[in-house]
Amino acid sequence: MDRTILHCDCNGFYASVECVHNPKLKEVPMAVCGSPDNRHGIILAKNELAKRQGVLTAETIWQAKQKCPDLTLVPPHREEYLRYSKLVNQIYLEYTDLVEPFGIDESWLDVTGSRRLFGDGRTIANTLRERIRRETGLTISVGVSFNKIFAKLGSDYKKPDATTVISRENFQQLLYPLPVDQLLYVGNAVNKTLKKFSIRTIGDLAGCNKAQLSGVLGKLGENIWEYANGLDSSPVRRFDDQPEVKSIGNHITFRRNLTGTEDFKVGILALADSVAMRLRKHGLKCRGVQIIIKDPQLKSISRQTQLENPTDLAKELGQQALSLLSSCWSPEKPIRMLGLTAIQLTEEDCGFQISLFAPQQASDHQKQQELEQTIDKIRQKYGVNSVQQAVILKNDIGVDRSSKSNYSRKE
Ligand SMILES: [Mg+2]
Repeated sequence: MDRTILHCDCNGFYASVECVHNPKLKEVPMAVCGSPDNRHGIILAKNELAKRQGVLTAETIWQAKQKCPDLTLVPPHREEYLRYSKLVNQIYLEYTDLVEPFGIDESWLDVTGSRRLFGDGRTIANTLRERIRRETGLTISVGVSFNKIFAKLGSDYKKPDATTVISRENFQQLLYPLPVDQLLYVGNAVNKTLKKFSIRTIGDLAGCNKAQLSGVLGKLGENIWEYANGLDSSPVRRFDDQPEVKSIGNHITFRRNLTGTEDFKVGILALADSVAMRLRKHGLKCRGVQIIIKDPQLKSISRQTQLENPTDLAKELGQQALSLLSSCWSPEKPIRMLGLTAIQLTEEDCGFQISLFAPQQASDHQKQQELEQTIDKIRQKYGVNSVQQAVILKNDIGVDRSSKSNYSRKE
């Protein structure tokens, strides 16, 4: 028997929550952005009117204002978004305990066992849309299908406030003309590879040779081929069974003991680089950083500090960790092992809180962000060793990844 999976997606989530609190915002083009005072701030979300004028998520305020000069800018209210996210998921949970959030504003629901009680997939989807609208003021679009991948495509198919059923009978007709990068897990790099083989639509992907694709893209190739053919059987997790990433850390036992600030810097930067890359991969930022230092006698200390702004950038993590290190360890004392852990992780991009006196800081942050995201893309394409900071490249302490050193060697 086929499963009945729903994918529910809150439409324009941040902007919608802002509009619920201040209905006047519905009548003007409006966007939620990181730091409204800064031309380089980024658009995090926009309402329908702003969307119609061409405002895009992730572009700078400056770009958005060019298209829409009377755009109203609102700073984000993180706590409120989390509160609404919980409210919405609580409503989903009245229909099944198999509710798996995917980010703050999307969830999968497996309602296979609830159909006798609440009706078929479409009926439950329509009930949910009605209740969410009435009880929260938000709208959701819902995809209903026999697997998670197609359900997600369904919630994107028609919005806002719509239900789309993707069945075994209609999936080829509805989904196969769509661009292949709408499929979950087909990112930029994969999309580029697929283009080389003239695979442009989900239908192209479904019809291509699985073995050949696997030769080019490995396991991922097999997976996306199966997804395109409706063969995804991954389960929807129980709501209280979500894996939670509590911290992301790394440590290195060095080839020789570190002494002096230059050594310390290389060690910390190598760690910060790998930790920040993993933060970005998980879409997380940290509000704190912790370091562990072990001396040659294997005595260790650990220190932690709060960050002024949540970050996923190696440069900012490294700077914080370095000043933490210098506050508790003198340069002439040797270090055998160093660990760096990003703690107090958060999923949300709440923008960069600039103090009035430091607009330069925000623009530096912005530039660094672009730089590190570019490095991610290059590494995705050419491997993790393709780009390295010069300071890490030439050293004899065992953190040069290209020399296949004892990077992240376990004690
Ligand atoms: Mg959404």
